[in-house]
Amino acid sequence: MKDAKELKEELLIEKKTAYKLFDDAQKKEMEAYAADYIKFLNAAKTEREAVKAGIALLKKKGYKPYELGDKVKKGGKYYYDNRGKALYAFRIGSEPLENGVRISAAHIDSPRLDLKPNPLYEDGEIGYFKTHYYGGIKKYQWTTIPLSLHGVVVKKDGSKVEISIGEKDDDPIFYISDLLPHLGKDQMAKTMREGIPGEKLNIIIGSTPYDLSPEGGVKLHMMQLLNEKYGIVEKDFRSAELEVVPAFKAREVGFDRSLIAGYGHDDRVCAHPAIRALADTDESVHTVMAILADKEEVGSGGNTGMQSAIFLDILEELSVALGANFRLVKKNSKCLSADVNAAFDPNFPEVHESKNACVVNGGVVLTKYTGSGGKSGSNDASAEFCAYVASLFDRDNVVWQTGELGKVDQGGGGTVAIYISSKNIDVVDLGVPVLSMHAPYELISKADLYSTYRSFCAFNLG
Ligand code: MN
Ligand code: MN
Repeated sequence: MKDAKELKEELLIEKKTAYKLFDDAQKKEMEAYAADYIKFLNAAKTEREAVKAGIALLKKKGYKPYELGDKVKKGGKYYYDNRGKALYAFRIGSEPLENGVRISAAHIDSPRLDLKPNPLYEDGEIGYFKTHYYGGIKKYQWTTIPLSLHGVVVKKDGSKVEISIGEKDDDPIFYISDLLPHLGKDQMAKTMREGIPGEKLNIIIGSTPYDLSPEGGVKLHMMQLLNEKYGIVEKDFRSAELEVVPAFKAREVGFDRSLIAGYGHDDRVCAHPAIRALADTDESVHTVMAILADKEEVGSGGNTGMQSAIFLDILEELSVALGANFRLVKKNSKCLSADVNAAFDPNFPEVHESKNACVVNGGVVLTKYTGSGGKSGSNDASAEFCAYVASLFDRDNVVWQTGELGKVDQGGGGTVAIYISSKNIDVVDLGVPVLSMHAPYELISKADLYSTYRSFCAFNLG
């Protein structure tokens, strides 16, 4: 009979934490990676800013703009900027394209408050913007926090004004008020969903009138200030895309600085590793692609979301340019749907199933299926593909774990995985465990971030 300890090591899963498995060189690399990521997160508060930050990173590594129909060559490095809101970056491998493309697809939109088409008003001598929230938020979390305004306004003459207010230390910020507890009796009796209704997410933008005449109110003053600085008039709001996001900077958390709090980890914490891994695996023989998609938080629709035809258009154009069979290219392509999962929260153990929840510092999380109820809306990756991906991680000593999004029947969620796998591509979800997902200030661990980067590198080289 074998010794039980020996047999246990041979047969059972050993729970690992990333910190125990990293050597000193990796710990150093992890810190450098985290510092680079924090800079990216602070520069990329919106999908448009994430595209810009992604392009800046790629340009340094020799990536060039690509247009549909362009010739491409082996070893060539390209990026396709889809309307400034989604990014497709790829390097052509030395092997035939028909062997398939290694794709990492993350999303760069995050829950936020968008301005309505007619946002500007005043009430009680305070100036406001009306908003319509985007993505799944707990509305009460967005009151009484510093907010910044980002986006673009396209003027009548077609010129585009880019706006970013509230990020610099000496910028003003914006604010949503909440009721004081002294007068909150009725509000506090409501459910958390109803305590702050969507129509109360109105943003305070100022409080002084233009002058004391009957025409010279706060609304006019706010518009005058915007006109002075950006040359815009009220009509321009009708077509503008202005997004209100938390003004917090990403910060290290804890005495040991092992965690990072930030806005929009979901899913820039996977977008950054996807781009970095592409840029850092030049030695791969495969054609490798990193996708930063828009609109995931609202169902991946629109021409910048993952359901847009542009994804297949690019693959088809590459197939034509390199003389490959497009259908074989799709069939042999492999994809990591790079998205976050809900980390086990010891403060709320009741929503997780502890044997199958991912944990902070457990490494990158492989999520075979998402969905809700009986896996409804899920990609549910095949055993063959999951085992293949896992073998690459084990080969390269990537610290990884499996995860389910909460208890069965507790809720659920989806990712871009189903939209890519429906194109006849093998896809599995992979990403970083997050605490307080979709909150204005989310939490992740440096070890999981670094493990995710290493997992994408292993996949690209696989
Ligand atoms: Mn996500
Ligand atoms: Mn999300």
